[in-house]
Formats: sequence, structure tokens, C-alpha cells
Amino acid sequence: MTIFDAKTLANEGVRNLSPYQAGKPIEELERELGIRNIVKLASNENPLGLSAKVKQALQDQLAGLARYPDANGYYLKTCIAEKFNIKANQITLGNGSNDVLELIARTFVSDKNEVIYSQHAFVVYPIVTQAIGAKGIAVPAKDYGHDLDGMLDAINDRTRMIFIANPNNPTGTFLASDALHNFLKSVPANVLVVLDEAYSEYVAEEDRAPSFQWVNEFPNLLVTRTFSKAYGLAGLRAGFAVTGAEIADLLNRVRQPFNMNSLSLRAAEVALGDTGYLEKSVIVNDTGMAQLTLFCDEQGLRYIPSRGNFLTIEVGEDAAGIYQKLLHAGVIVRPVAGYELPRHLRVSIGLPEENQVFIEAMKKILAEQVG
Ligand SMILES: *Cc1c(COP(=O)(O)O)cnc(C)c1O
Repeated sequence: MTIFDAKTLANEGVRNLSPYQAGKPIEELERELGIRNIVKLASNENPLGLSAKVKQALQDQLAGLARYPDANGYYLKTCIAEKFNIKANQITLGNGSNDVLELIARTFVSDKNEVIYSQHAFVVYPIVTQAIGAKGIAVPAKDYGHDLDGMLDAINDRTRMIFIANPNNPTGTFLASDALHNFLKSVPANVLVVLDEAYSEYVAEEDRAPSFQWVNEFPNLLVTRTFSKAYGLAGLRAGFAVTGAEIADLLNRVRQPFNMNSLSLRAAEVALGDTGYLEKSVIVNDTGMAQLTLFCDEQGLRYIPSRGNFLTIEVGEDAAGIYQKLLHAGVIVRPVAGYELPRHLRVSIGLPEENQVFIEAMKKILAEQVG
């Protein structure tokens, strides 16, 4: 008689996969500890909440929800194309950029391939690689960031794809435009480079790489963006890739037709045009970043200089214990031991008063450690 064993039926890569660990939801901590007024600085969300314009647009959209969404996302693609001066046929929409990253891997990577990413890189890269059964190559980081020369050295005949997040999560490290451009020139044309620019909006405009233009220069380049961070739509799930038209055509063959729903399509469209909200988000982030780095400097805490909307702070050996103590103080941050950063905690930039709650809680914890 045969016995049922789900694990042996699963694809080999899937059997050894660890699921993505998201930031702890506020409601979960409320349930567990019975506390209120929780401050969540764990998932790099926009602390401003939904913009008023998006909220109104969502309300207007409700009546249409019995209908299927536009499978091609015509209006959103038109808006993206206009805003960034690209063509609509270069765009692939996703249910968050995670969806696009997975779509890219499934379209191009097979179990015979290798995929390169950096140590301390976004965990979705190893997950999508492993799920396919491909071999992930984590190149040791340099000063917590990408070692581009090391990544070039790791390329071999089996290499199909390289993932680079710029700025990187969870380190906040940033690659200058020149360095990236030189790197792209050195990558063989048959190796795809996925440039994940989830935090691009937080980088000063003059420092941003002209990545959408590079797509014309490097047909093997794929750039991804998200509406989850500076645009403030994390809960709606909206992201996209900009690539050459040929790659977009392939991605759109694999993409589920309704991967973005009517609400996320409309919200993303309105958010793109809401420059006031975007500007405010960047100011709030710059202010909060200064507030947190000043606190660290005063306390003698080291941190990784960040160009994102979060700061990864070296709190020492007892990072896990400090994380727990912060939870009990009603502050959720993100442990990053799973990113080979066991001495660090990643703190998302919140509103000034939220950052202050974290700062006060940390001060108390640090004082107890000494005492
Ligand atoms: C947050 C983040 C994303 C965005 O994910 P969504 O699925 O769009 O919410 C993508 N890449 C990195 C590196 C991130 O940190």
C-alpha cells in the first residue's frame, strides 16, 4: 500500500524552503500581550497612511467591484508610461513587486540554472530561486552592501539571473549610478539582471540611476518598482517591472490575468499622480532618519547608513532579547538574524512621535542592560 507524504510529492526546491517571515502584525501583538497603542516599525510601510486622494478614488471604485478588473491594466500602464517616459509595452504589472520578482524567476530560471544575489539580500530572491529548484549563489557582502566585482566573479555557464536591490533591504546600502552602470556593461548579455528599486523614491533625484533608460541600453536588464513604500499602498499590493518590450511580452504570458485587482489598479494610478503625498513622505522619512541616527550617535550604537525608509541598528549579541523587550513595550521592529545579521535590528522610519516611542523604549532597555 502506498502512503501519502505531501513532502515527497513537492518539488525538491520547495521541500527545503523556509516561508517568508513578515513583520509582526499589530493585531497579533495585541492578541498575544493584550496591549494597545502599538507602534509598528517593522515592514517599511509608509507611516503617513493612505493619501486622501487615494482614499476617495477607492470609495468611487467600490460600485464596480462585481466586475473583473482590466486584465491589461490599460490606464495604470498609461500613467506609468507617461510619468516615466517609457512605453506601455515595456511594463508588467504585479500584485506587489514580489509577484513580479517571482514571475521573472518563473519565466526565465530553470532547475539547471544558478541565480546570484548578495549576502544580506532581500529574502524573496533566495525563496523564488529555491522554489524553482535553481541554485542560489549568495556572494559575501562588502561593508554590508553588494560586492559587484564579487558578483561578476560568481558568473558561470549556469548563471541565468542576478538580483540587486538598490537601495538594499535590510541594509539600506546604496550603489552609485556609475558603479551599477559599469557592472551592467560587464555582465554577459545572456545573464539577466533584476534591479529592484523598491526604495528608489527615497533617494535624492540627482543620485538615482537612470535605470528605465538603461533598459534600452541593456536588453538583459529588468527594473522593478513598488507602490508599497513611498506611495503608501502596501496593503493593496501593487508593483511593476520595466523591461524591454520582448521581456515584457514573455512576462505577461506567464502573469495571471487579474493579478492586480480593480482597487489596486485605481489606487496606484491616483498615487502616481499624488506628488504632494510623495514629497511629504520623503520629508517625513528624512526627518525620521535624522531623529533615529542622532539617537544612535548619542547612545554610541552603530548602524548601517541607509538610503531607504529604515535603519538597521547594531544592538549587539542580545538582539533577539531586545526585540522581545521592545514588543513588550509595544514597539514592533524587525529581527534580521535570518539575513545573517544576528546583532542587528531593522527599524522602519515612522512618524516623529512613533520614532520617539521606539527611542524611549530603547533607552530604557539599554539602561537596564548597564544596570
Ligand atoms: C518592500 C520591498 C519590495 C516590495 O514588495 P511589494 O511586494 O511590492 O510589497 C520589493 N523589494 C524589496 C527589496 C523590498 O524591501
